[in-house]
Amino acid sequence: MDFKYVPTTCPYCGTGCSFNLVVVDGKVVGTAPFQRSPVNEGRVCPKGSYAHEFVNAPDRLKTPMIKKDGKFVEASWDEALDLVAEKFAQYKGEQSSVICCARASNEDNYALQKFGRCVMQTPNIDHCARLCHASTVAGLAQIFGSGAMTNSVSDLADTNCAFIIGSNNFEAHPLAGRRLMQAKKKGAKIIVCDPRRTPTAKQAHLHIQHYSGTDIALLNGMMQYIIQNGWENKDFIEKRTVGYEEFKKNVMQEKYSLENVSKITGVPVDDIKTACQWIHEAEKTTAVYTLGITQHTVGVDNVRSVGFLQMLTGNMGKPGTGVNPLRGQNNVQGACDMGALPNVFPGYQKVTDEAAVKKFEDAWGCKMPAKIGLTIPEMLDTFADEPEKLKCLYLMGENPIISDPDIAHVDKALKNIEFLVVQDIFLTETAEYADVVLPAVCYAEKDGTQTNTERRVQRWRKAQDGPGESKYDWQIIAELAAKMGMGDKFPWANASEVFDEMAALTPQYCGMNYERIEKEGLQWPCPTCDHPGTKVLHCETFAGMPDGKSVFAPIEHRPPAEQTDADYPFILTTGATIWHWPSGTMTRRSESLNRDCPTGWIEINEEDAAEMGIETGDIVTAYSRRGEVDVPARKTPDIKKGVMFMPFHFWECRANWITNTPYDPVSKTPEYKACAINVKKKEA
Ligand code: SF4
Repeated sequence: MDFKYVPTTCPYCGTGCSFNLVVVDGKVVGTAPFQRSPVNEGRVCPKGSYAHEFVNAPDRLKTPMIKKDGKFVEASWDEALDLVAEKFAQYKGEQSSVICCARASNEDNYALQKFGRCVMQTPNIDHCARLCHASTVAGLAQIFGSGAMTNSVSDLADTNCAFIIGSNNFEAHPLAGRRLMQAKKKGAKIIVCDPRRTPTAKQAHLHIQHYSGTDIALLNGMMQYIIQNGWENKDFIEKRTVGYEEFKKNVMQEKYSLENVSKITGVPVDDIKTACQWIHEAEKTTAVYTLGITQHTVGVDNVRSVGFLQMLTGNMGKPGTGVNPLRGQNNVQGACDMGALPNVFPGYQKVTDEAAVKKFEDAWGCKMPAKIGLTIPEMLDTFADEPEKLKCLYLMGENPIISDPDIAHVDKALKNIEFLVVQDIFLTETAEYADVVLPAVCYAEKDGTQTNTERRVQRWRKAQDGPGESKYDWQIIAELAAKMGMGDKFPWANASEVFDEMAALTPQYCGMNYERIEKEGLQWPCPTCDHPGTKVLHCETFAGMPDGKSVFAPIEHRPPAEQTDADYPFILTTGATIWHWPSGTMTRRSESLNRDCPTGWIEINEEDAAEMGIETGDIVTAYSRRGEVDVPARKTPDIKKGVMFMPFHFWECRANWITNTPYDPVSKTPEYKACAINVKKKEA
């Protein structure tokens, strides 16, 4: 029997834990701890424990498939790629679009955005960061000059106070949550702001249960109280910020008095005072947030407001402080870094900057569209409503028919696409709409890198061969480029060569190569070959800002796009569970995870449930202005009265039948966290 351990990083959340894949006779059969990881120190959550279970699922894609007369027919690689090349050649520039993948490696995303720009000649390139943390990228870049987590996962354990808002990290990022519990054990105060009494909120010393969509009011109220008490860090404000006076004038308005904020948020005044007092008394406060902040029509302003709290109190640029968005999918940070976005090349170099365009045109040997392309919501809107303008989509590894808001709208958009190519490891619900399906290998079957939430670039290592004729994503892309006469622009023999080409063009990654990241990865920025990587950003200066200073600005509370009324009297918010991962493509093929959490549910406050005669286990119809869905009810005291919650992973009871499409005007991130719904008990 041939037995080996292959160290790799987890394919699920952005925490970026490492573990060993256990390989017997060439097949992945289990996971085992990898003790040397600076992120997780050998521990994993349930998803990580069972991350081997989907790898050899019987329904992995094994051959390319072409749809003929409405049915998929197996095809050779030559047949499939010839067809795709012929079709892609018919669509010019802006008629085409590309969706990259936050679950795929840096190398795969680099290859696909380059293919989109160079070969398809389209600016329409995006990926699912749009749906989660695009508000972080835009918001933090506006105030700090860099749209990434400022500190490190390990340094969450060194804080004296954790201000956690809109983050159920105990379920969504459990090993980051572990660091916060380490801080708690050492005496740190834990404050959690969330409309639900989540497992994370249950660990807190103080749970601030505000209404979904009232974060700015809450934060403005807190900052007014801090200033009233003279608790602001005057030295930090003077030396390291601009725009303070205008910001102060805004938060000091009567509408942000604690009494008024209490009315808007539903939070007792004393709780807000306590949170401010604890932040004031702590030597170091860290701010942690996730999608409860970003997935709003005011997502960018929510992000900036969290940043302002940390600037106001001087909690920046030191271990145990900072603004720490926990990125969602395993490589959503990396996919952004790789330029899988419509406005930037790799390394956030703007597509509208002439020097950047010339740099990439020279390096890649091709002309490119120097304009900002469509985001995913804009692509779907265009496919749905103006299909004559946008005709084809090359989609790698994403599943919008479950993950995007307002499913009826997504269904219309997907049906309108003239030519859809899906590259994936399973025949996903979205792949069913495709004209051609291309089979790729999964994380356990390839070498590559991914970048976790703390900007750490870490390795995937090949542990077994992929099934059937599946190929590496970057390899499929390069072979397709060759079919389209541009093979010389994609000359790579292996993933390491893709990485080297990318690193040479990406300032944050310039000092990295596979040899340097072999042991425990490196955190960007790592600009030179002898640079040790960067654990904490903005220590001395905000390097990405023109004058090196962070920027305060006045921000007003604005309510969610859709308000409750007599017909739709409840606010719906959505989120993740500890057992599953976004659209469930991988986790729902894990026997262990599925056994523990076989389907979705809707959480209803126990008083609301009693008024409607609903008991736990009853099937209710949840409905909004966009659609309806039948789902089992869970009666609970843990959610605020008037608010309901649905996890978003489950095909059979998709939360996104009823969610809303309006998005933040800057980040274009949809408002998954607040829409108006109603429920009725389904008659047996
Ligand atoms: Fe994987 Fe995230 Fe769990 Fe770590 S915390 S094992 S990265 S899912």
